Amino acid sequence: MTAPDTDGPAPVGPVIGLDVGGTKISAGLVTADGDVRHEASVTTPATAGPDAILTAMVTLVRPIAAAAEAEGCPALGLGVGAAGVIDPATGAVTAATDHLRSWAGTPVADRLTTATGLPVRVVNDVHAHALGEARRGAGTGQATVLLVAAGTGLGGAIVVDGRVLTGSRGIAGHLGHVPSPEAAGLPCSCGRTGHLEAVASGAGLLERYRSTMPVRQMDDGSVGPSAASGADVSRLAAAGDPAALSCVDGSAAALGRAIGGWINTLDPDVVIVTGGLAQAGPRWWTRLRAAADTETIPAATGCPVVPAALGARAALIGAASLLTSDHADHADHSIVRTRA
Ligand SMILES: [Zn+2]
Repeated sequence: MTAPDTDGPAPVGPVIGLDVGGTKISAGLVTADGDVRHEASVTTPATAGPDAILTAMVTLVRPIAAAAEAEGCPALGLGVGAAGVIDPATGAVTAATDHLRSWAGTPVADRLTTATGLPVRVVNDVHAHALGEARRGAGTGQATVLLVAAGTGLGGAIVVDGRVLTGSRGIAGHLGHVPSPEAAGLPCSCGRTGHLEAVASGAGLLERYRSTMPVRQMDDGSVGPSAASGADVSRLAAAGDPAALSCVDGSAAALGRAIGGWINTLDPDVVIVTGGLAQAGPRWWTRLRAAADTETIPAATGCPVVPAALGARAALIGAASLLTSDHADHADHSIVRTRA
């Protein structure tokens, strides 16, 4: 099913997109066609506090805004995808992990509006990623899109008719924290046990591999840690390491079964899988799709499960799209309309 027509002309013009992650802040000017220009990034001052992060964001934004102005096409505003739980009405961070020190409570939209004079919209970074893929990437033209983000952790988002489902508390899409038979008894990052993230994430994959293979013989003959990341485990599996293959197969099967369940629940037009785990190769994808098929009820068969298309730019493209969409999914939508 394709997305319905929007209810009027969208504002045209470029928007500055920002993607604020735990290790890097990326920015770029996203044109009306979805191209990204004047890209720049900086290491996130994650331990220096919110003032330092906001300063880094403004420092990235100013030259991009000046370049757009000089080209005769000034930016309409800023769209920000940021780590943490975001209040969609105010653009403030309502909760965050310790990856960004004291980030919770930061009024991101207000502070950036004051510093730049531009309208600002803020959304969670995974939600921004899903908006980018749904509006400009692998889900373009599809009405119901489920994004599964299998990186260090496991998250995701649901986009319906171009709007991301934020939920009642802004946390919708925490796909990693569903019970999974493959994860029974295993500790999860949330403090509970038996959740899918414990097997179907980069951190989970690494943990499972280390539990069966704590050390290995290094090329120089010494003994070292068996792997340092989920990507290491994927590489070892590709090289034929039996323990790594077993872990990678297990994570693909666990995530695939869960995807089958989400297909039955949401009936999406497409499921998009992104993140480091999605780079694990064709064997991982084959097992993922086969496991999804085993759980999908007959009425829901045939839902495509595909890789993401936009790469690392998805979140900033998605965040920028908040200012050029006609979907009234945020409280300050009227600001955008009056500037169009
Ligand atoms: Zn959990």
